Amino acid sequence: MEKFGGKAIFKGVAIGKIVFGSKEKQQVRRTKITDTEAEKARYEAAKEEAVKQLQGLYEKALKEVGEDNAAIFEVHQMMLEDDDFNEGIIDKIENQQVNAEYAVAVTGDAMAEMFANMEDEYFKARSADIKDISERVISVLLGGGSLSRLSEPSIIVAEDLAPSETIQLDKDKLLAFVTELGSSNSHTAILARTMNLPALIGVKIDKAWNGKIGIVDGYKGIFIVDPDEETIETYKKIQKKDAEKRELLKSLKGKKTVSKSGKQIKLYANIGKPSDLASVIENDAEGIGLFRSEFLYLDSDDFPTEEEQFAAYKKVAETMGGKKVIIRTLDLGADKQVDYFNLGREDNPAMGYRAIRICLDRQDIFKTQLRALLRASAFGNIAIMYPMIISVDEVLQIKEIVEEVKKELREENVKFNEKIEQGIMIETPASVIMSYELAQLVDFFSIGTNDLTQYTLAIDRQNSKLDSINNPHHPAVLRSIKTVIENAHRAGIWAGICGELGADTALTQTFLDYGIDELSVSPSFVLPVRKAVCTAD
Ligand code: PEP
Ligand code: MG
Repeated sequence: MEKFGGKAIFKGVAIGKIVFGSKEKQQVRRTKITDTEAEKARYEAAKEEAVKQLQGLYEKALKEVGEDNAAIFEVHQMMLEDDDFNEGIIDKIENQQVNAEYAVAVTGDAMAEMFANMEDEYFKARSADIKDISERVISVLLGGGSLSRLSEPSIIVAEDLAPSETIQLDKDKLLAFVTELGSSNSHTAILARTMNLPALIGVKIDKAWNGKIGIVDGYKGIFIVDPDEETIETYKKIQKKDAEKRELLKSLKGKKTVSKSGKQIKLYANIGKPSDLASVIENDAEGIGLFRSEFLYLDSDDFPTEEEQFAAYKKVAETMGGKKVIIRTLDLGADKQVDYFNLGREDNPAMGYRAIRICLDRQDIFKTQLRALLRASAFGNIAIMYPMIISVDEVLQIKEIVEEVKKELREENVKFNEKIEQGIMIETPASVIMSYELAQLVDFFSIGTNDLTQYTLAIDRQNSKLDSINNPHHPAVLRSIKTVIENAHRAGIWAGICGELGADTALTQTFLDYGIDELSVSPSFVLPVRKAVCTAD
């Protein structure tokens, strides 16, 4: 038994026969041709056939792994039409009088090398795509066929895998991937994740493993070759547990989140960036209850522009279709600092210049975000939520600014949802105490239990020394939640929880008893919480 380290790109365990996916590089010989016109026509015909194959793969992928992942085969079709690629090939056929296979190979290799040498990880990863398309055309020119089918469930071990090879493999017989090359940004890695296949990259592979039994440990990033019986048994137990968890999750997908006594709640997910959407969909969240928009700012070296923000919000809204997407305005400050804001040092940052306080002070920044949010509201079911509210006055100021921005957009003839819902986070004791008055002004409440616990108990949530007494189950916190829900209902609006406590299934029954309308949790908690609601009274 031998163990090899690698980088896990998808969690899970696979046990099975290793199939070495060594792709014999197609032998391309240079030959001198005399009829360059005929050779160019040969190339054009092969290219057309390759485009057809890619269209077939696109349609297959569309059915199996969805539009986003299928898009790579459209990109490959476009790459085949790329002027630089085609001109390079035609030029070699015409001026060097070489055969089409050779012209394609040389042009493809040069372009792949150029991409491989680029700094940007994304472009680097495109090098494999260039190799993939040139090999496809060469294969057509040489009269080659497609990849052979797997005869039994197998772990594919290869130096590298192209997306087109990955998608062609029989999904039912594919247990896992282990590759030496590749990046977590490559489309093969993306496909592996979408297909729920444990996968490792960066493993020093060996042809001699072919036919042996292997274990892929996608939790620890280990590949085991020739495992002993005891190791196999240990991993079978992990697989069994995983399967039980998956079964539980599967059976809850598509179900309503409704308690035994018939109370239905909205079960949403929290995200920080558009790329979290895959797991929102995978876990069947009914909407987004908290999009922490500040991550767009944290991810950037300068203020994200209106266009950048608009694109991100629009993408989330469109991906979620008609489902609710609640986007929280900038909540920077305290532990979330960015240099370009120059917020300066504060003695008490958690109680300092943060969130809505910054926005009301720096209205230029706030208005840019509001413009982006309102514009994106024309593309889906967006609601806006304001953090760290302590007073009626703040909400009145916000509403005035929103009206100004709406007026601007109307004058510019820019479409937006006139009736966009606006809610506030209840995460300060002041907002709990004022919740009845605040509820008259907004469309919903979302309780931020992380900060509400911090401010109610006067315990800095960043201070690990206070962990043992930082108790969100404290009666003062629970009683606050109850008060907020009651006041929301008295004023005819809904109330939810988007803090971590919403995912605490020990409290699901309590929240239902309080009359909670919505829970928004990390994507991986959606189905466990659904289970807790469905089994509660
Ligand atoms: C909260 O305070 O509970 C909350 C959801 O917001 P954040 O954790 O981003 O402060
Ligand atoms: Mg908060």
